[in-house]
Amino acid sequence: MSATPSTADLDVRSRAADDVERRSRFLISASAALSESLDYERTLQRVAELSVPDMADWCTVTVVDTNGRARRLAVVHADPAKRELAAEYKSKFPPTEHRSGHLLEVLRGGAASLSVHVTDEELVRAAQTEDHLRIMRGLGCASCVIVPMVVRGEILGVISLMRGEARAPYGPTDVETAEELAHRAALAIDNARLYREARRREGTMRFFAEASTLLSSSLDHVSICERLAHLVVPSFADWCGVELAEQGELRSIAIAHVESAKVAVAEEMRRRYPPDPAAARGPHGVLRTGRPELVADIAPEMLERGAVNAEHLRFLRDLGLRSVLIVPLVAGGRPIGVLNLVWAESERRYGPDDLEMMRELGRRAGLAVENARLYNEARAAVKLRDEFLSIASHELKTPLTSLRLKVDGILRVAAKADKGAIDVGKLATRVQGVDKQLSRLTELVDALLDVSRAASGQVQLRLEEVDLAAVAQAAAQRFKDDLASAGCSLSVVVAGPSGSKSPILGRWDRMRLDEVITNFLSNAIKYGAGKPIQIRVTASATTATIEVEDHGIGISPDDQGRLFERFARVVSPDHYGGFGLGLWIVKLLVEAMGGKVAVRSAVGAGSVFSAELPRQGKV
Ligand code: ADP
Repeated sequence: MSATPSTADLDVRSRAADDVERRSRFLISASAALSESLDYERTLQRVAELSVPDMADWCTVTVVDTNGRARRLAVVHADPAKRELAAEYKSKFPPTEHRSGHLLEVLRGGAASLSVHVTDEELVRAAQTEDHLRIMRGLGCASCVIVPMVVRGEILGVISLMRGEARAPYGPTDVETAEELAHRAALAIDNARLYREARRREGTMRFFAEASTLLSSSLDHVSICERLAHLVVPSFADWCGVELAEQGELRSIAIAHVESAKVAVAEEMRRRYPPDPAAARGPHGVLRTGRPELVADIAPEMLERGAVNAEHLRFLRDLGLRSVLIVPLVAGGRPIGVLNLVWAESERRYGPDDLEMMRELGRRAGLAVENARLYNEARAAVKLRDEFLSIASHELKTPLTSLRLKVDGILRVAAKADKGAIDVGKLATRVQGVDKQLSRLTELVDALLDVSRAASGQVQLRLEEVDLAAVAQAAAQRFKDDLASAGCSLSVVVAGPSGSKSPILGRWDRMRLDEVITNFLSNAIKYGAGKPIQIRVTASATTATIEVEDHGIGISPDDQGRLFERFARVVSPDHYGGFGLGLWIVKLLVEAMGGKVAVRSAVGAGSVFSAELPRQGKV
C-alpha cells in the first residue's frame, strides 16, 4: 500500500471538495434569497430558480396553507424549452390529486425520500392520467429527492428535486443538502407567517379600537348604524348594509358602498325585492338563528337561482356580488339586526378569519345600538311623563278651581244665615255644583289609579254571564244629561243572531264592559260636534261587537294608528280636556277579555270606535 495518494485519489478528493464548495455556495445564495423579503411565496419561487441547474433539472415547491390545503407554489425547469411544460404541470396537477407517490408520503410522514433511480414503470404507476405521464416524461424524472419543510414539528410543505437521464442520480449527500435547504426555507415560511399573523392582529386591534371609539361617540342608533357601515367600507367590504329588527321585520338603516352611485341601486333593489322574512337563509335566517352566514364564492348560477325574475337578476348582476358575509348584531345575547358585508368589484373573498372578526364587530355594534335605543326610549318616557304630569295637573286644577268658587259661594250664603236670611234653594244649587265637580275629580283620580294598575299589568277580571246589550242601554241612560247639554241625540241598535230583542250574552267582566262603553260614549259626546250618536251591538255565534259612531271632528289616518297608545292626544289640550289615557285603558281591558279594538274615521266626517269580544271570554 502506497503512503502517497495516487492522482486518481487526488482527483476524487478534489472533486469532493468542489462538490462541498458548490453545495455550500448554493445554500448561502438560497439563504440570502430567503431572507430577502417576508413575501415567502416570492422567495420560494426564487429558491426553486436557484436550485436549477445546480441541484436539479427541475424543482417543485409545495406548501400547506393555514387552512391545511397543499398548493403548488413553484415548478421551475432549467431548460427554457421546457418552461411551458413546467407551467402546464403546475396548473394541471395540484399536489393533493396525486393518488400515490412519494410526495404525499413525505407530506404526511415528514421524512425525506430518495429515489435514486426512477423507472418508467414507476412513472406510469404514479401518473394520474395519460397527460400527466406525458408531461412527467417530458420534464424528465430519472432520479428524485423529496424533502419536507418542517418547523416545530409542523410540516409546512415539501421541496422536490428531479434530474433526468443525462445527469448523475441523487445520492445521500444530495439529500442532506436538500434537507438543509428545506430547513432554511421552512424557517423563512414560519417567520413570514408569524409576521403576517402579528400584522393581522395589530390591524385587528387597531380596527376594534377605532370601532369602539366610533360606536360610542353617538347616542342615536341611526347614526351609529351609518358610522358602522362606513367603518367597514372599503377595508372589509365593497358594500355594507345595516338592518335592524323592528316588530319582527328587518328595516334597512344604513348602506355604504365604495361606489356611491351603487347605494341607490342597492336601495332600489331592496325596495323592489325585499328579503323574504320566511327564508331559511339570508338576513332573516341570520336574525332568527343568531348564526352568521358566509358564502365565500358566489357562482353566477347562485345569482340565477336566487333571483325572483329577470329584473331582480339584473340588479344582482349590476351589484356584482362575489362574496357575502352576514353577521348578527347582538345585544343581551339576542340578535337585534344584521350586518351584511359584500365583496364585489375588488374581487376579494371572505374567509373564516373575517367571519370571526365581523362577528365580534356585530356584538360591539349591537350593544352600542341597543344602548342608544334604550337611552332614547328612557328619554322619551321621561318626556312623556313630564307632559302627562302637566296635563294631569291642568285637568285636576279645572274642577278644583270651580270647586273653590262653589265653596266660596256656599260660605257666603252661610254667612248670611247669621242674619236669618238663608236661601235654601241657592244653597242646594251650589251644593249640586260642588257634587258635580267632586264627581269629575273622582273620575280623574280613578283614571289615574286605573293607569297605575294597568301599567303594572294588573288587569283583574271578574268573568260572569253578561248581556252586552243591557250594559249598553244602561250606559246610554246614564249619559242622558251629558247628551242633552252637548245637544246630541243617541240611538241604540241591537242586532243579535236571533233577533233584536234577544240579549247578547257572553262571559265578560260587567264593570270593565261598562268602562269601555263609557269611554267610547264620552269621547263621542266630547268630539261629536253635537251631531247624532249611535251605539250598535251585534253578535255572531262566537263573537259580540259594540260600535259607537259619531259624526264629529274625526281623526286623520296618521293619528288613528297611535290613538290607543298611552297619553295619545291628537287634539289641542286648549280645546278639549282629557289625559289621553281612556282609549289606552279600553284597549288593555278589551285585550284582557280576549278581544280587539279598532277605529274607522275620516276628518270632519266622524268616527266609529269598536270592540270585538269573544263570547266565551278569554280563551
Ligand atoms: P282623552 O281623555 O284625551 O279623550 P282618549 O284616550 O279617550 O283620551 O282619546 C285619545 C285621543 O283620541 C283624544 O285626545 C282625541 O284626540 C282622540 N279621540 C278619541 N275619540 C275620538 C272621537 N270620537 N272623535 C275624534 N277624536 C277622538
